[in-house]
Amino acid sequence: MTAESTLARIAKEVSICTKCALHESRKKAVAGEGRVDAEVMFIGEGPGFHENEQGRPFVGASGKFLDQLLAQAGLERADVFIANVVKCRPPGNRDPQAEELSACDEYLEAQIKAINPSIIVTLGRFSMGRFIPGAKITAIHGQMQKVGERFVIPMFHPAAALHQAALKPSILADFANLPDQLNEARKALGRSISPKKEKSVLQDEKPRQLSLF
Ligand code: URA
Ligand code: SF4
Repeated sequence: MTAESTLARIAKEVSICTKCALHESRKKAVAGEGRVDAEVMFIGEGPGFHENEQGRPFVGASGKFLDQLLAQAGLERADVFIANVVKCRPPGNRDPQAEELSACDEYLEAQIKAINPSIIVTLGRFSMGRFIPGAKITAIHGQMQKVGERFVIPMFHPAAALHQAALKPSILADFANLPDQLNEARKALGRSISPKKEKSVLQDEKPRQLSLF
């Protein structure tokens, strides 16, 4: 199975999933989207109001800010993959509960396996907690660490930085560091930049993108 078909299958399963109570109030599940062979994968918390309407990740205010942050790292959406720890909106944007996180985890796990990114950037505490349990974001944000076969960089959630102006310089600086960290991760993992990726950096071609709806 190709990564592309695996991701399409996951998106289909998620759209009709009833494994946790979040399915009851969702309008559209948000599997995630982006480049199927992305070197960097972003994992947020869960769909908010606009994401639930549109079925796409990070399309509201925090999504606009995420676009700016990606630009800070010389990236655009088409270069990366963006997903969440829960695929259906928690009502009123409440925190996802432990049983919802664990019910939904098999989808995220399968997405990570299919994409096989060099770096996972976690956005927010639930995403960070999945990879680095018990960590404090204020102590370790922006620091890359090896978790299993790849690297994880915990970052503040864009929405948190939008609501707390004091966090904004930190999140901007953390994103600005990402290109250097990517080079470091590539070296450590013995991966080289593929010609296709060089092209997409130069924007010679439109990167393959998986739109889920
Ligand atoms: N916040 C998230 O964590 N994920 C989204 O997709 C949108 C907002
Ligand atoms: Fe299924 Fe995940 Fe949605 Fe729960 S949040 S219903 S586990 S897709």
